[in-house]
Amino acid sequence: MRTIVIAIDGPAASGKSTTGRLVARRLGYLHIDTGAMYRAVTLRALEEKLPLEDADRISALAEKTQLRLEKGDNGVRVFVDGREVTQQVRSAQVTRSVSAVSSYQRVRNVLVREQRRMADGGGVVLEGRDIGTVVLPNADLKIFMIANVPQRVERRKKDLEIAGVDVDSVTLEQEIRERDRLDSTREASPLRKASDAIEVDTSGMSIEEQVDFVVARAKEIIEGGGK
Ligand code: C5P
Repeated sequence: MRTIVIAIDGPAASGKSTTGRLVARRLGYLHIDTGAMYRAVTLRALEEKLPLEDADRISALAEKTQLRLEKGDNGVRVFVDGREVTQQVRSAQVTRSVSAVSSYQRVRNVLVREQRRMADGGGVVLEGRDIGTVVLPNADLKIFMIANVPQRVERRKKDLEIAGVDVDSVTLEQEIRERDRLDSTREASPLRKASDAIEVDTSGMSIEEQVDFVVARAKEIIEGGGK
C-alpha cells in the first residue's frame, strides 16, 4: 500500500499535536512534532544562559545539539544529547522564549534538514508552522488547522491542568496571541497557510472529528493513488 506524507500546520493550541499523534496512530505512521524540536533548542539556550537576542551563539548551539524524538504514550518524548527533557520543553519559560529562537534562519536550517531526513520515505505526519510551505512543499496532504482564541485558551488550560500547572485564562490568552503575532510576522518561514492546504476550523469539532476528517482525506489519497 502506498504511504504518504501529511503536513499539519497552524497556530499554537489549534489542535495540531493531538490530531497529528492520533492520525499517525490510526495510519501506523510516524508522528513528528516539529515544535518540540524548536522547544528543545530553546531549553538548551536557556540552560546555557544565552541572551535570546544572540542569534550567532544560539545558532551555533543548535548546530551542535543532538535532538531525538521518541514516541511516548501521551505524545512525543524529547531528548537532547541523550538526556530526556520531555517535561522541561513544555515549561512556561520555554513557551515564552521559543518564538525568538525559532525566528533565526540558521536554527531553522538545522532543524528543517533533520525534519526532511525523518520524512524521507513517507509514512509520516509532520506538524508545525512551515511544514506545507517550506519543509515539505510536495507533501501529499496539507492541513491548516485553526480555532478561535477562546477555544484555544480552553484547550491549553486543560493540557496544563493535566500536567499539574494552573495558569489563568488571561495570561494564556496573552501568551497565545503574542506567539501568533511573532510566529506569523517573522521573516524566516512565517506561519501561513500553503495555497494547496485544506483549512480546518476545529473550534466546534471534537478530537475524534478532527482525526476522522484528516484520516478520511488521507485514505482518499492513499486509495485513489492521486494527490
Ligand atoms: O507547536 P508548538 O506550540 O510546540 O511550537 C512551539 C514554537 O516553535 C512555535 O511557537 C514556533 O515559534 C516554533 N515552531 C516553528 N516552526 C515549526 C514548529 C514550531 O517555528 N515548524
